[in-house]
Amino acid sequence: MKDPSARRLLLVHAHPDDESINNGATMARYAASGAQVTLVTCTLGEEGEVIPPELAALTSDREDRLGPYRATELAAAMKELGVTDHRFLGGQGRFRDSGMMGVGQNEREGVFWRTPVETAAAPLVEIIRSVRPQVLVTYDPDGGYGHPDHIQAHRVATLAAGLAADPGHRQDLGEPHTIAKIYWNRVPRSVAEESFERLRAQSLTGFADGVARVDDVPGVVDDTLITTEIDGTAHAEAKAAAMRAHATQVVVDGDRFALSNHLAQPIFTTEYYELVQGAPGAPTGERERDLFAGIAG
Ligand SMILES: [Zn+2]
Repeated sequence: MKDPSARRLLLVHAHPDDESINNGATMARYAASGAQVTLVTCTLGEEGEVIPPELAALTSDREDRLGPYRATELAAAMKELGVTDHRFLGGQGRFRDSGMMGVGQNEREGVFWRTPVETAAAPLVEIIRSVRPQVLVTYDPDGGYGHPDHIQAHRVATLAAGLAADPGHRQDLGEPHTIAKIYWNRVPRSVAEESFERLRAQSLTGFADGVARVDDVPGVVDDTLITTEIDGTAHAEAKAAAMRAHATQVVVDGDRFALSNHLAQPIFTTEYYELVQGAPGAPTGERERDLFAGIAG
């Protein structure tokens, strides 16, 4: 039996780098506090662009070696965050990156987006029943910004959480387990707008060509939807280092970063969530400050 008092946090993400950008401070904070942090990444991000010119040949339209390379970046990032349990859904390379919505890769054999949700959920049910997390973090139904792999990650995580709890479902995948709380990644609009305002007043020399827009940030919503904020300021350096480890995808400069579009974005060291399943651990009208708030043990 798992120790019921030990805190176990499961995060489900689409590609290597999503976890560090969205939840790096949260993951570092819980890992440092002794919680078990488990990351499940659904694809290797094979269709990503590559920022460093000397690595340009890795892309899918050239040598198609980006996936395994990004697995090593992810491993380095997890070292920075102090997270030892990171897995690829169904094993490394089982589901392939589907590319941005509308591109030809969406229809390619074996891509995550084309995989039936039930098929992709099975290995996650097994992980949930084995790890037995009290808390699950994933994306909203739009995947935060409409990327097919992010939408599919949401669907797979949601279905797997339900099936894992169902005693009648696939007893070969382990003993049933109910996840107490499920969260979606969020950014409050006011925080995003203030941060971008500050960025626009800064010099970007040598780092980015311009500043991204608030709408480029996944999961931005009205402040009233935010139920939970996790102050990871003490882990800002670990988050920045983890993002830097994803060097094919991310350039970090102090407290800001850019993706392959070379547009500056702020690095959030307080990370925000919307509780969508389970009882809130804070009084009505107040935000939770702990993902495990209200969970017995
Ligand atoms: Zn992604």
